[in-house]
Formats: sequence, C-alpha cells, structure tokens
Amino acid sequence: MRVMVVGAGIVGCSTAYALQRQGYQVTLLDAQVEVGRMSSYANGAQLSYSYVEPLASDATLRALPGLLLAKDSALKFSPRWDTQQWAWGIQFLAACTRSQAQNGTRQLLELAALSRRTLESWMEEEHWSIDFARNGKLVLCRDEATLRRQEAQVALQAKLGSSQEVLNAKQCAEREPALSHIANSFAGGIWTESECVANPYLLCQQLANSFVERGGKLALGQKVTAFERQANRVQAVHTEQGSLPCDAVVIAAGVASPRLGAMLGMKLPIYPIKGYSITVPVINAEKLARCSITDLGLKTVFAPLGQHLRVAAAAEIVGEDLHIDPKRIAQMLHAVNELFPGACDLSAPQTWAGLRPATPNSLPIIGQAGGWASNAWANAGQGALGLTLAAGSAARLASAL
Ligand SMILES: Cc1cc2nc3c(=O)[nH]c(=O)nc-3n(C[C@H](O)[C@H](O)[C@H](O)COP(=O)(O)OP(=O)(O)OC[C@H]3O[C@@H](n4cnc5c(N)ncnc54)[C@H](O)[C@@H]3O)c2cc1C
Repeated sequence: MRVMVVGAGIVGCSTAYALQRQGYQVTLLDAQVEVGRMSSYANGAQLSYSYVEPLASDATLRALPGLLLAKDSALKFSPRWDTQQWAWGIQFLAACTRSQAQNGTRQLLELAALSRRTLESWMEEEHWSIDFARNGKLVLCRDEATLRRQEAQVALQAKLGSSQEVLNAKQCAEREPALSHIANSFAGGIWTESECVANPYLLCQQLANSFVERGGKLALGQKVTAFERQANRVQAVHTEQGSLPCDAVVIAAGVASPRLGAMLGMKLPIYPIKGYSITVPVINAEKLARCSITDLGLKTVFAPLGQHLRVAAAAEIVGEDLHIDPKRIAQMLHAVNELFPGACDLSAPQTWAGLRPATPNSLPIIGQAGGWASNAWANAGQGALGLTLAAGSAARLASAL
C-alpha cells in the first residue's frame, strides 16, 4: 500500500518512519526544501512526558482575565476577522472545566508514555545523535498558591502512575545549586527525575535519514494544492510540481492541517498558538542548571541542549504570524540573566518564532477525522507537546491505518 504523509515536521517524520517500519511504501512530502523547518525547528526541546496538563482548565479560566490584562504578559490575544479563531476560542472556553482537564491529563499521560516507549526503542536501534539527555525537570513556583495547585496536579498524576516530588525553595537550590542566588524568589518546585530533552530539528533529520535508509521516499519542496478524488477515495495528491498517486494519505501538516483537511471534508479544530525561542552558547556550565527548568512565574522554559541553552516562552493567539517581536527576545534574555547570570553568551542569540498547532482541549487528532475520503487520516494538533507526543502519535496512527 502506497501511503502519502503530508508534512515533514516532527509529527510527519515520526509517522512516515513508523509506517515504513510496518512495511508500507511511504512518501513523505513537504512544501519546504528540508524536513523540520517549521514549528519543529527550534522549539523548547522538552520531552515533557509528565507535564501534559491541557491548557484549557478551570485554573486557566480563572487566570485568563489577569493574563490578558497584565503588562508584558506571556499570553497575547489579537482578535481578528477570522471565524476559525472565534470558533476555536469558544471551544477552548467550553473545555475549561476541571473534569475535562483531568480527563485530558489522563489521556495525554497515556499517549506520552507510549511516546517515551516508542522513541526510546527507536533510539536504541538507530543510535541517533540528537542531543538527547535524561536530565530531569524542575518546575519552579514563585508563590504559594501556584505551588499548592502544582501539588494537587502531582497528587492527581501520582494516581495515574507519574513519579514526581514536591520541593521547598531550599531543596530546589540543593538540587540545582546554580539557582541558590535566587532561591528566595521561589516558594518551591516540582521535581521530575524522568524528564528528557532532545534537539527537535536533529530528531526530524535523523528520522528522515533512517526512513530513507529503510526504503522511504522524500518529496521535498512540493506544496500540496489538491487531492484527486475517485468515488470516496483519494487516488492522488496534487502538488505544484505534478501528481503523485497513492492508496492512502495522512495529513500531518501542523497548523496547515485544517486547510488541507478541509479539501478532504475533514473539520480539524486546530489554531496556531505562537511562541518564541532563543538559543545561546553556554560559557560557564557551573552557573547553569543541569536539568530543564520551567519558571511558572515567567512562563519560560530553559533547556540545556548540548553546548547550548534553549529558552522558550510566550503564547500568542495572533493567527499565522511568524514575525519575531524584539520585546519577547529581550524578555527571554532578561530571564536568562536573572536565573543564570554569567552562564551563557547573550551577545548574539539565535532567535526563532513558531506556531503550536493547538486543539481547544489539547488532545491531538489521530486517525480518521470525517470527510468524504475513506482512505484519509489525520495526525495533527499536538499543540505545545508535538516533540513529546510525536512518536506515540505515530505509533497510534500506524496501528489505526
Ligand atoms: C515556542 C515553542 C516551544 C515549544 N516547545 C515544545 C517542547 O518543549 N516540547 C514539545 O513537545 N513541544 C514543543 N512545542 C510544540 C511543537 O514544536 C509542535 O507541537 C510541533 O513542532 C508540531 O509538529 P508538526 O509536525 O505537527 O508541525 P510542523 O513542524 O509545523 O510540520 C508541518 C509541516 O507541514 C508542511 N506543510 C504545510 N502545508 C503543506 C502543504 N500544503 N504541502 C506540503 N507540506 C505542507 C510544513 O512545511 C511543515 O514542515 C513548542 C512550540 C513552540 C512554538
């Protein structure tokens, strides 16, 4: 069976690789001339298997007015004449209940566990070089109320099999001495030993290389413009370069998935949530945390990645806009200076903006998603967790096909 996977980000690369391993004849197609150049390029690098709580929750709903009104807030919403934005927003608000957030946490923890098992088995076989480290993660809370809320989440997740520890400020500084100088700024934190990091762009490249070595075909620089229909089946994918026949198609096109899915009659409730990253060289490793750090006060993630520090932040609901706002870069540089002064060379950061393909309830869409085509599948909407969930989503899609 010839399968066309549309989109060579982390989700598409993982899907193509998983399907090729199962013996399908797979073509991985992308509009870009390289794999992993869009949302998967320079994200936060977290394999965040235990931090999967959906963005939509009762707590988010309570915090929303403050977040929207605060000066220099991590969250920005620019209303647009865009029915998709408003429909998504309404569905997001409807998903902001405790029971849906808890149910979402349970489902995402299951998918994350499958992802960990799948990626680690692939890595064991392929020996990829992807700056992978199992260095743990410390989530820092600046006030008691945030720490109490995190503690409740830890208790919920403990029942679902997660192993996490609640630390006071002194214990946080003991775990990461590089934070000692600002330990007083924190009420405490949550430590998760089993969290990992990996370079998402390198992982996309290595997945694509292994996919080709196993007989898969790459079709890069080819933008899909239409699907050729025969009765209730897609029989070919049209690109600007020509037509490629197929027996099945998988839409894994990140934030472009709703547009492509609509051509097949699928309704995919995915909207971009923009974020930013900087990558800076480490000049004094003693002054840097060894694990990943999330500062919930600054809503910023810090990940040691090889010889560099990757910092990611912000959630902007502004449409498909990839403009890099210098104010966001300045905020992240300031955050590095506050937490890890002297650790990194901040003179020439590599800057990046990307779009999280987010569903209203943070659950990805994996499988058949309605529409007229009986041989079309979607693997999209992994949102803020695409790197984390890609391998598990690919495994799930491959068993559904
Ligand atoms: C600032 C930031 C930090 C993040 N941090 C993390 C993190 O720490 N951990 C984590 O797990 N996740 C993180 N994420 C989320 C993660 O980056 C995304 O979920 C993931 O990259 C989505 O992958 P994707 O393959 O679905 O989309 P993409 O990587 O965007 O891939 C989609 C591909 O489809 C192609 N395409 C689109 N339209 C067409 C067409 N018509 N024809 C052909 N090809 C097409 C595009 O060119 C693109 O290459 C972060 C995201 C951001 C923005």
